[in-house]
Amino acid sequence: MRFPRLAAAAATALVLGSASRLTAAISLAVDASDAPRKIFHVRETIPASPGKLTLVYPKYIPGEHGPTGPITDLVGLKITASGKPVPWQRQPKEMWSFDVTVPDGASSLDLAFDYVATAEGWTTSTAQLAVVNWWTVMLYPEVPGANELSFAPSLKLPAGWDHATSLRAGRGSGDGVTFAPVSLVTLIDSPVLAGAHFKTVDLTPGQQPGHWLHIAGDSVASIQISDADVAVYRRLVAEALALFGARHYEQYHFLLTLSDHVSVNGLEHHESSDNRAAERSLIDPDAKKVLGTLLSHEYVHSWNGKYRRPAGLVSGLSADYQPPVDSRLLWVYEGLTEYWGDVLGGRSGIRSPELYRENVAVIAGNMARQAGRAWRPLEDTATAAQLLYFGRPEWASWRRGVDFYPESELVWLEVDSVIRQKTGGKKSLDDFAHAFHGAPGGAPAVKPYSFDDVVAALQAVAPNDWAGFFRERIVDVAPAPPFRGIEASGWRVVYGETKPDLVRAGEEESDIFDFWQSLGIVVKGDGTSGDAGDGIIRDVVPGMPAAEAGVGPAMRLVAVNGRRYSAKGLLEALREAKAGSAPIELLVENVDTFKTCRVDYHGGEKYPHLERDASKPDLLTPIGSAKAPPAK
Ligand SMILES: [Zn+2]
Repeated sequence: MRFPRLAAAAATALVLGSASRLTAAISLAVDASDAPRKIFHVRETIPASPGKLTLVYPKYIPGEHGPTGPITDLVGLKITASGKPVPWQRQPKEMWSFDVTVPDGASSLDLAFDYVATAEGWTTSTAQLAVVNWWTVMLYPEVPGANELSFAPSLKLPAGWDHATSLRAGRGSGDGVTFAPVSLVTLIDSPVLAGAHFKTVDLTPGQQPGHWLHIAGDSVASIQISDADVAVYRRLVAEALALFGARHYEQYHFLLTLSDHVSVNGLEHHESSDNRAAERSLIDPDAKKVLGTLLSHEYVHSWNGKYRRPAGLVSGLSADYQPPVDSRLLWVYEGLTEYWGDVLGGRSGIRSPELYRENVAVIAGNMARQAGRAWRPLEDTATAAQLLYFGRPEWASWRRGVDFYPESELVWLEVDSVIRQKTGGKKSLDDFAHAFHGAPGGAPAVKPYSFDDVVAALQAVAPNDWAGFFRERIVDVAPAPPFRGIEASGWRVVYGETKPDLVRAGEEESDIFDFWQSLGIVVKGDGTSGDAGDGIIRDVVPGMPAAEAGVGPAMRLVAVNGRRYSAKGLLEALREAKAGSAPIELLVENVDTFKTCRVDYHGGEKYPHLERDASKPDLLTPIGSAKAPPAK
């Protein structure tokens, strides 16, 4: 049995109750043999004593930072006791909760239901692969100390499919794979990746703890990983240890799903990560650039997000998965993870030093064009994360999005540079990582923190008014572009006509074209597909030339200077306008009306880059360079 144990400092705050009404393990059998049809069959037996009982579907999912438990897709629910139907009633004001009465004489409830999956969901599937996240395929009794409930999980897969998970193998003889019993908390933290085309790479052969990269793809070709990429991910494991100094897991499994029919995403766990990317991410250079630092980001979360977690996000530990969360500190949880994920991407060789810097430039350029920074503090994007994850693209610049990821990366770069300056280069944010996220290490544990804890830990590394520093950049409205960390690192944000490779690759993969820094628009489609959606303007930046000329999001760009829209044609129009004085004429379709917007812009193509400022030491290069001793 493995429970995430509590670190000593927090133990008094987070005493777990006991699930005294339930002694035996809950049996949870998931049949994924129908996964190619996106349906998962569930049988669950919950020990129970007679009387009223509430069964709940996990609502606030760790790492999701919101009430996203996909209750809508739980279907076919039937509850019985000793073979007799037991009626259930959903709570009218809490729709993830079902009230039942366990009949006299019964010692358990038998549940049968299905989960119907989507491409976007955390339990998902294609004809060739599946990912099972247990919180989508369970109900659990709402009892004191529910997190200590023991589950005996099993999983039946389509014939011939392989699988991987951080769950330990069990001894059962059931129909399918049986796992050792675990607590509710550990089960929810332990997804399973399975597929017909499956590959496992041992990243630390013969070492403890073990690290594995498991790949399931929609084709045989997709799971072919090169020796060079294996070396990079081995390096990632070594660089993470060099950074943090200790690990908070007994084994680690990178689960990688490669499919064009599953949404690109990633979710962190203590002993694994659930990474999803395009089918050709390991074999196509542009797709690999878009995959980028996904695995390093999710891996960093094992330290920053799972082990160290904002106190407001410890649902699933202090209580259960039903109470609301306070996500204000996501600029640490996600923002610092973005920073370390990209830094480790540089140190391990996932990205070249040039691409590491280019990524910083692109983030800076994008954040400078978030018009909503004039009214909305960065902290508010974290507080409202559960809303903003689902924000529409239209007027996103004015609304702001989940900026606590990219903008916080720039803030943490500034923290790193301030520490280096104040200590004459003797210390860096690596020292904070060691102190805050490091020793003692061992089995999965959770050590919650507050804003004051972060400030105090930084103070111990390099004395500074850190509370005031974060107040100005995070808590208050900060209208100025967040370039100070870059400048303090010996670089300047400049704009030029050369399209960054990351932007070009992103356009190729997403079919969304970037005129963000020139006209202030992004356009879906390059104008060649003939689809009705080709040329839709996804967003405009208020105050930028296209917006000033009357262009709005969701309008369709029909023609540029009298010719049918194409991305290439619009680039040519930018070049022509730079050489002359005539405005760029954009014919746009606004539902059923057409109008011509004359954009008085003559700045040509514009993309952000970093330029060296020789008056200051270059900190970006050492920050993004390998630290761990070379592999033997
Ligand atoms: Zn994350």
